[in-house]
Order: sequence, then C-alpha cells, then structure tokens
Amino acid sequence: MMRSGLISERMGEEQGVIAAIVPDVSVVVPVRDEVESLPLLVEAIANSVSPSQLSYEIICVDDGSTDGSAQLLKELAQSRNDLKAVILRRNYGQSAAMAAGFNYAMGKAIVTLDADLQNDPADIPMLLAKLEEGYDLVSGWRQKRQDAALSRLLPSKIANWLIAKITGVKLHDYGCSLKAYRSELTADMNLYGELHRFLPALAFIEGARITEVPVRHHARRFGRSKYGIWRTFRVLMDLLTITFMKKFLTRPMHVFGLLGLTSIVAGVAIGIYLTFLKIAFGAMIGNRPLLILAVLLLVTGVQLFSFGLLAELLMRTYHESQGRPIYRVREVVANNVK
Ligand code: UDP
Ligand code: MG
Repeated sequence: MMRSGLISERMGEEQGVIAAIVPDVSVVVPVRDEVESLPLLVEAIANSVSPSQLSYEIICVDDGSTDGSAQLLKELAQSRNDLKAVILRRNYGQSAAMAAGFNYAMGKAIVTLDADLQNDPADIPMLLAKLEEGYDLVSGWRQKRQDAALSRLLPSKIANWLIAKITGVKLHDYGCSLKAYRSELTADMNLYGELHRFLPALAFIEGARITEVPVRHHARRFGRSKYGIWRTFRVLMDLLTITFMKKFLTRPMHVFGLLGLTSIVAGVAIGIYLTFLKIAFGAMIGNRPLLILAVLLLVTGVQLFSFGLLAELLMRTYHESQGRPIYRVREVVANNVK
C-alpha cells in the first residue's frame, strides 16, 4: 500500500515535477559518545537503504557527547546529502534524543536504531517490508543478544515478561532500539523518562497494529554501554506510568471514584454500627480500633473521590489543550467526500 504511493512519487520526481521533499524513510539515531562507530554506521545505513528504490534521510541526534561525536556529525552532514545532524545542547537521555529525531524526521516511515552498531543496519529493509504488509509498528527482536548476562540479560528478561503482561502488547524484546514506524504514529507520541522502550505500548494505546521480526545483534565494538543495572528500576517506574495511562487516561473517575465511594460506604457502615451500639446498649466506643478504622476509611474515601475529580479535570485539559482526541481514526471511506 505504502510502496505504490512511494513509487509514483519518485516517478514524479524523475519527470521533473516538484521533487519530493518527503523522503520515504527517515532513519533516526540517538548518539552519545559514539565517535568511532559513526562513520561506519552512516555508511552502513546508506548501503542498506539505497539499493531499495526508497529515498531516505539519516537523522543523527547528538545527545550531549563529550568525545567529539558532535563535531564529527557536523562534518559528515556537510559532506553528504543524506545526513542531518541535530545537536542537542546537553545530555537529555536516549528517549529525549529520539523524540528530537522524530521531530526533525520528514519520512513517511521512521526507523530507529542505536549508534553503536549493535543493531545491524542491514536489517532495515526487512523491517520496512514488514511495515508495508500493513503494520503501523514493526519491532526488532534481538536474536542471540550480545550483552552481559547478569546485569543486562536477566533484568531484561524479567522486564520484558512484566511489560508484556501488564501492557497487553505481546512482544519478546521491548528494549531493542531497531524499530520501524509509520510516521503518523511517532508524530503524536510524547516520550518522557525511559519511555522509548514503551513506544509499542503507547502505540498500542493509540490503536496501532504491531508486530515483531527477528533481527541480528552484535557485541559493542567501540566505547561502552551508557547503562547498567539501575536502568531496570527506571524502567519499572515508567511501567507504572504506562499502566496508569493505558487504563485510566480517559476515565480516572472510574477508578478513583469507585475506590473512594467503596471506602466512604465502608466507613459510614462501621460508623452506623458503632452509633447503634452506643445508643441501643450504651456501649463505650471511644477506645475501639473500629472507630479509628471508620474515620480513616471516611477520610481516605473523600480524598480518593476528590482526587478522581481532579484527575478528571486534568485529563480533560491534557486532551483538549493539545488537541488530542480520545480516539484515533485509521481511515475514513466514503464516496461523496467533499
Ligand atoms: N544514548 C543517547 N543518550 C544517552 C544514552 C545513550 O543518545 O543518554 C544512545 C547511545 O549513543 C546509543 C543508544 O542510545 O546509540 C543506546 O545506548 P547504549 O548502547 O549505551 O545502550 P545498550 O545498547 O547498552 O542498551
Ligand atoms: Mg548498545
């Protein structure tokens, strides 16, 4: 589907009609201290994409490197036409760097990968082919991952299992940076924290069709990994955010309202029971733990309930201020559209 559009546009280009400003593919690469890999990487991406008929651009986002990566990227970008270098002012993190890349990417399809040559640029055409089968997102699944076993592979196994369980998106390898997206998808996604690995989950919330394909993975040749075991905790926290977003983004009151009301009702019931004891039997209720429980339930209940109301207001502001409708349309078919 996508290809037919792409090819006709290229034909237009050849006939001298306005050259397409929109490339078929944008390859987005976050870069932090990868100076040795960069020349090889850019070359490898170009070699992998150019044999296909697709037009492409490479967008390297320098994320506050201190090893001269930025300088090298600038030079490369001046000497070749297929590379755009985006230099961030300081280090913001991989997610932010990717978000910046998405912002500058003009392509109809977006491919992301790491700068360290651990992902293999030669896999890009395969991902794009899969995308054309009608998927909105194709995620790489690293076969024979080349990373440290205890500090990386084990936490990653657990995280992948948890993420799949909680988000309901059945992928084997969320951490793989090599992914392909339709650009509509990346256009309206906001990446905070370590959220880039949850892009499939976010996309799923937006109703995307998602699949995965096995990809190659190599050991790092230059430099070293920017992450250690601590990333696991950040990922877990982000998982909480995602869970919340997935469930309650459009209906917080359903959750907090229900919890709050249950708590209030329980509190009132216990209160009535105690009052009954006091009035009917003249019992001493002042020193009963049950009384404290009743008060606690009432207070928490009111808190939860009002929190739900606030969340409801915030949610409206969130959707309306950004012009984000609460639904996503895949396509509209009609004969008589004006
Ligand atoms: N990266 C980045 N900003 C950061 C950390 C990493 O842009 O703050 C880039 C890094 O240059 C690489 C990719 O993100 O291209 C993945 O990082 P790394 O290879 O260190 O992670 P790993 O493969 O070990 O998970
Ligand atoms: Mg890496």
